[in-house]
Amino acid sequence: MKNEPANRKLKISVLRFNPQDPESVPRMQTYDIEEAENMTLFIALMEIREKQDPSLQFDFVCRAGICGSCGMMINGRPTLACRTLTKDLGTEISLAPLPVFELIGDLSVDTGKWMRGMSERLETWLHMKEREPDLGRLEERMEPELAEKIYELDRCIECGCCVAGCGTARMREDFVGAVGLNKIARFRIDPRDRRTDDDYYELIGDDDGVFGCMSLIACHDVCPKDLPLATQIAFLRRKMVSVGWK
Ligand code: SF4
Repeated sequence: MKNEPANRKLKISVLRFNPQDPESVPRMQTYDIEEAENMTLFIALMEIREKQDPSLQFDFVCRAGICGSCGMMINGRPTLACRTLTKDLGTEISLAPLPVFELIGDLSVDTGKWMRGMSERLETWLHMKEREPDLGRLEERMEPELAEKIYELDRCIECGCCVAGCGTARMREDFVGAVGLNKIARFRIDPRDRRTDDDYYELIGDDDGVFGCMSLIACHDVCPKDLPLATQIAFLRRKMVSVGWK
């Protein structure tokens, strides 16, 4: 009988730190596990937590790349643990929490607080043209091409990977990030929203918005939903420059 190849042994090093515990100091902790077929990093972390260390903190909800909860730095790159197969990585893997966001503990960060602040600043909700929104009109017919364009930009799951990979977000606390600029691009093309271009430009026309972007394109590279982030930012910037916005 032909021998099956042995499963790989993985060394997963995790940056551990609990900011709630005054005794806690940041440190790397390494866990050894055996790789299983089609193992994702999320499954590996679950196994570590179940069999080796119940104190390990990380977030997940859907396990299918939809909720955006399991974003983390995997070998220095922000991405989703549930969408990362261990077979695509070497046998030594390093994990750290996403930077920029408030650390809850270990690999768990509070992206919700950051996203809420950005959302309130940019008012990332539909501003209906009527004073009293007619909910029936939300379902009004729209040209399929336009609906497709809006849908494309609406696929953001607010995972925070684009913010974690962004040089400006590390330097400017109030930078709205590619996620925020993408939302403005989305509402700008929605015919149901009453805001004008000037209203949008007022929201993003400074160094915490579109002019803070250094065009490093990391957001575009790391977005797990493959959103055209750099293209959208460049488009908004060109539009604003073309009308003399400074
Ligand atoms: S734009 Fe992409 S990377 Fe950024 S929060 Fe949305 S899904 Fe995540």
